[in-house]
Amino acid sequence: MSYVRGLKCREKDCGRTYPTEPLHICEYCFGKLEVDYDYDAIKQDVTRQAIEERHENMWRYREFMPIDGEPTVGIEVGFTPFFRARNLERILGHNEIYVKNDAVNFPTLSFKDRVVSTALCKAKEFGYDTVACATTGNLGNSLAAQSVRSGLKCFIFMPADLEQGKVVGTSVFGVNVVGISGNYDGVNRLCTEIADRYGWAFVNINIRPYYAEGSKTMGFEMLEQLGWQTPRHIVVPMAGGSLITKIEKSIREFAQAGLIDAPGTRIHGAQATGCNPISAAVKAGEELFTPVKPNTIARSIAIGSPADGFYAIETIRNSGGWAEDVTDEEVIDGIKLLAETEGVFTETAGGVTVGVTKKLIEQGHIPKDESVVMCITGNGLKTQEAVLGHLRERPVIEAKVADFDALLADLTATAT
Ligand SMILES: *Cc1c(COP(=O)(O)O)cnc(C)c1O
Ligand SMILES: [Zn+2]
Repeated sequence: MSYVRGLKCREKDCGRTYPTEPLHICEYCFGKLEVDYDYDAIKQDVTRQAIEERHENMWRYREFMPIDGEPTVGIEVGFTPFFRARNLERILGHNEIYVKNDAVNFPTLSFKDRVVSTALCKAKEFGYDTVACATTGNLGNSLAAQSVRSGLKCFIFMPADLEQGKVVGTSVFGVNVVGISGNYDGVNRLCTEIADRYGWAFVNINIRPYYAEGSKTMGFEMLEQLGWQTPRHIVVPMAGGSLITKIEKSIREFAQAGLIDAPGTRIHGAQATGCNPISAAVKAGEELFTPVKPNTIARSIAIGSPADGFYAIETIRNSGGWAEDVTDEEVIDGIKLLAETEGVFTETAGGVTVGVTKKLIEQGHIPKDESVVMCITGNGLKTQEAVLGHLRERPVIEAKVADFDALLADLTATAT
């Protein structure tokens, strides 16, 4: 059974409704469409207890998901670890920090597994046989993996010079991978034309409203894992700006369904200084962003013209949150800080989240007694080149005890 009412234009002064079809733009105002649900009916039918008794995956929130039947793709995705980061709290001088760790999402180690499983369930319901995407890396990894498993034909379009881990992590699945010269924004423009021409389901373009709903489950999980409570602050990395708006939607929907109390969470956005259209707009008090040409090691979130940038700015502002950005050097420091304190190896986007959280604490936007959740969205094994050359030296010795004795004496001497 589905609680979906249809699609609805996100522009406040429009709000036109559309049937549940592969549409993404409002014909009247060119606003973005989003999935609308019958929340009264959901409230009648769903309880915390019912959810708690279900399997530990993202589909335990299926009443809030845009599919008609049972999920057919990505049954094992989601319900990633959530934990209190006590070592990090000590280093940052803050009293309550949590990590939501999508670096270990199944099957491809990023939060994109959530949006892809949602998009593919829907693409199948719509009857598509070919799926595709424009990707900064993680989306391609996940779409490739999940498409082969579900028997769909697949085309991935990516900037030609992405990190090796992202390229290999897509090509290994044997799907069609096309490298495009230039940055992501050019790839996305090309894909918009290809989508119209070939009638394929581009998960983040023509079926984007459904795809994007998958991001809500990262929010649902952290609320449930916090004991059906809202944190006071959440820090979210931003690329196209979709995830951050869906984290907000997840809180609003749980409140509407009576699963949590009235919210009051400040949502903060994180970007790299080398690609900061959204955070720059927030800091300047602008409602609209100015597109930029990306230049940062945080490739997975390097989108110069973010599709949901406008809504991301609105989300941050309405929640009373803020946005910041960090240099590539701070990104590397952020990756190492999380690794050395909490034993989590995140990719560059996670380094951005950690670096921005640190900055927002220092600036007082996140007071030290107010709980904060950091959204860690991707895995460091995919962007190893970012930290190569920035790690502790690894001595190499002969396989002799005497050599180790000498080394240990050396290490002890330099440590004091
Ligand atoms: C795609 C991505 C994001 C941001 O996603 P948007 O919804 O486009 O803002 C964040 N982190 C990682 C690792 C990603 O791959
Ligand atoms: Zn409209």
